[in-house]
Amino acid sequence: MLLENYNRAPLTVVAGEGCELIDDTGRRYLDLVGGIAVCALGHAHPAIADAVAAQARTLVHVSNLYGHEPAGTLANELSYRSGFERVFFCNSGTEANEAAIKLARKFAYRTGNKQRNVILSCTGGFHGRTMGALAATANTAYHDGFAPLPAGFRTTPFNDVAALQDAIDENVAAFIVEPVQGESGVFCASPEFLKAARELCSQRGALLIFDEVQCGMGRVGPLFAFQAYGVTPDVVTLAKALANGLPIGAMLVREQFAAGLKPGDHGSTFGGSPVPCAAALAHLRVRDETHLEHHVAAISGELFRGLNDLAMRYPHIYGEPRGMGLLVGLPVLPPHDAADIVNDLREHASILVNKAGNNTIRLVPPLILTASQVERMLDAFSMAAESRAATAPLAAGYPSAH
Ligand code: PLP
Repeated sequence: MLLENYNRAPLTVVAGEGCELIDDTGRRYLDLVGGIAVCALGHAHPAIADAVAAQARTLVHVSNLYGHEPAGTLANELSYRSGFERVFFCNSGTEANEAAIKLARKFAYRTGNKQRNVILSCTGGFHGRTMGALAATANTAYHDGFAPLPAGFRTTPFNDVAALQDAIDENVAAFIVEPVQGESGVFCASPEFLKAARELCSQRGALLIFDEVQCGMGRVGPLFAFQAYGVTPDVVTLAKALANGLPIGAMLVREQFAAGLKPGDHGSTFGGSPVPCAAALAHLRVRDETHLEHHVAAISGELFRGLNDLAMRYPHIYGEPRGMGLLVGLPVLPPHDAADIVNDLREHASILVNKAGNNTIRLVPPLILTASQVERMLDAFSMAAESRAATAPLAAGYPSAH
């Protein structure tokens, strides 16, 4: 039996196709969760499946004692697209952040700044579940019962430039921030905050790390969120959508900080193994071929227009939507509960969304979402609101799943 560390919905998924999931009774769901911002090209994409199958027939694993072509090519592709010269591969977002934390501390150590070991992060941020990444995650609800966490972590209020000026001192090795916070309910960093972070880190000798595990890989439009903001950090961490569903994480590093980690300092048995790298390469290729960035911009516009309209029509139920691209949070206003709406949409409209942060519905669908799927989703949100406004039984009147 599986350990009960997840709250799973009563749904057993057997297959996926594009933006839809199919359960063990054959029922099809419109999937606006996308494996939590992972399946950017949707489910069972033929190019990903072909790349995985071909690579699995050629070479599955060699360890990092030797080089192999998929990792080298993927590193070069990511460097070319980001402008970051060095790439480290691991298996998850948490691991990518652990690598960034270790790199920042060791870089300070190697450059004679041994006291510079503090990792500064933001309130509302989420960086993962291992002890270091957890210590960088400000929300203490994730910490409960796991003390003692590693020392040398501090937090500063998100989007507060004045507080950041005080917080980045001579002991800070790195400031880590999500350009768009995902887990806490979708909150965008202000451009001023990220610009100030860039200036302060450069002036005071701290590394600037952007955690793009959730908001990267085209989720907010451009391939990297830092490109949307026009602010270039020193380190970027990626995972989730990188290989469209196969486990992989990456840390991108600018050349001048790359000597932070030398042979023996850090590693991973599976990190950057051939099959996920082949899937990631296929993902990048399809992204280019389908001009996905333009599609995200267009469909995001439709989605925000619809959600703003919804918030205007049902001001006692939905708040103003937040986010960028296809990383979107729709606040639900008390006494209504986002979790109830999530359940209603699944049960009565065959639509999957999830709750994040404080009473917010998070939408992180595959980036290939179509206008008619947006329309279907908006209709379902309207029906959920109507049934609440009227306090009528929920099932009647929901748009059909098929
Ligand atoms: N960083 C951010 C911004 C995330 O959203 C997540 C996961 O939700 C993580 C890190 C952790 O990634 P993983 O679950 O792949 O370890």
